[in-house]
Amino acid sequence: MTIHSEYLKRVMETVKKRDYGEVEFFQAVTEVFESLEPVLERNPDIERLGIIERLVEPERQIIFRVSWVDDTGRVRVNRGYRVEFNSAIGPYKGGLRFHSSVYLGIIKFLGFEQIFKNSLTGLPIGGAKGGSDFNPKGKSDGEVMRFCQSFMTELCKHIGADTDVPAGDIGVGSREIGYMFGQYKRIRNEFVGVLTGKDLTNSGSLVRTEATGYGLCYLTEAMLRDAGKSFKGSAVVISGSGNVAIYATEKATQLGGKVVAMSDSDGYIYDPDGVDLACIKRLKEVERKRISEYAETHPKATYTEGCSGIWSVKCDIALPCATQNDIDKKSAELLIQNGCIAVGEGANMPSTPEAIELFQKSGILFAPAKAANAGGVATSHLEMSQNSQRVSWSFEKVDMKLMQIMEDIYANMRDAAKEYGCEGNFVAGANIAGFLKVADAMKAQGVV
Ligand code: NDP
Repeated sequence: MTIHSEYLKRVMETVKKRDYGEVEFFQAVTEVFESLEPVLERNPDIERLGIIERLVEPERQIIFRVSWVDDTGRVRVNRGYRVEFNSAIGPYKGGLRFHSSVYLGIIKFLGFEQIFKNSLTGLPIGGAKGGSDFNPKGKSDGEVMRFCQSFMTELCKHIGADTDVPAGDIGVGSREIGYMFGQYKRIRNEFVGVLTGKDLTNSGSLVRTEATGYGLCYLTEAMLRDAGKSFKGSAVVISGSGNVAIYATEKATQLGGKVVAMSDSDGYIYDPDGVDLACIKRLKEVERKRISEYAETHPKATYTEGCSGIWSVKCDIALPCATQNDIDKKSAELLIQNGCIAVGEGANMPSTPEAIELFQKSGILFAPAKAANAGGVATSHLEMSQNSQRVSWSFEKVDMKLMQIMEDIYANMRDAAKEYGCEGNFVAGANIAGFLKVADAMKAQGVV
């Protein structure tokens, strides 16, 4: 899609120059801008008030050294980040990613997306993201703990229950959150909801672990239902085998789908009988092993090296739940040729712009990440509410709230797309609905 607005083109040029080399951030900004033209036509105030220029510039970017000692006694140094992007509608909220590929451009793309995602949930939460180029894979428990403690020793100066509340993301699960929470408490002497995704013994919330994957399926089911379809009887392919992928598999199966393939960063498994989720959970959540081991105990299953091949597996519904730019043009073509009817994005920005364009042209139902994976942050907010009231809600209560939030998000993006003349384009609908609320708050708060 081409951008026609001179205003948006000018801001894009500034982003390109000022944030040179941050390709993922530029990709995320471009996608949002492509949706905003009809909004600008109806709201000339946006340009006069510099809303877009302010939106692409984080309110605060914190970069810090993280020194820690490995098991051999050697000092290691990583880089830590927290980008507090926009607090117009509430305290900053967004996950922490620990992965060797992390640099400022990745954190900024994730933080920028988070602004709109958080707004779409209908809850009062601003957008942020953080993390480090530390790779927890292959590290001992002690090494992960020492890294997390060092990371939090700096981060704790910038976060707080009413300021900025981080959560997990790639490489950051309840173990890492637990170590960081312990260090925060030790330094600040406060037992408060400063992190979400805590385990239950640390005042975490039921359903938070399942939330992103479950929420993805609730929203995808709502989208399918509107088109007279459902998960029931469908073949489903899910990339990844981490937190989001595992609980998307669980919910898709409960809704009557059969998940036939999953992956990790080395390769993918195909099981025509439907994936044995208990085995995947054991391998990934308990033993921290590779997915290739699945095929060793499941004779009908096959393992293929290389993760992109997963999109050649025939399916009705595709749920990319691994990482950004996982589905490129070629993978999208394969999915379309094989009769896929719906794609729901569990990971952040897992489809390239070319892939999204193909999906939209082919009429596939396409639920973009900022709507489809918002269940995690929505449930984090429910965790914050429970923490501040010092209560703990039942699994059923949190799950019901999550389902309602996902159905509302779907309805909001569908209705916004219709109102702005692009019915059925949920990418535009999600961007517009998320943007309008933030822009209104920014207008009301004056030039800050
Ligand atoms: P996990 O670390 O639990 O799992 C990530 C999975 O993706 C693993 O299977 C991993 O394989 C695979 N993966 C990671 N990097 C790559 C890569 N470069 N190529 C191929 N596969 C890769 O992370 P989550 O499940 O928490 O997050 C997955 C996605 O969902 C991310 O995009 C994240 O931003 C997004 N998300 C997560 C939320 C949450 O609540 N956790 C909320 C909203 C979005 P391996 O083990 O081999 O590295």
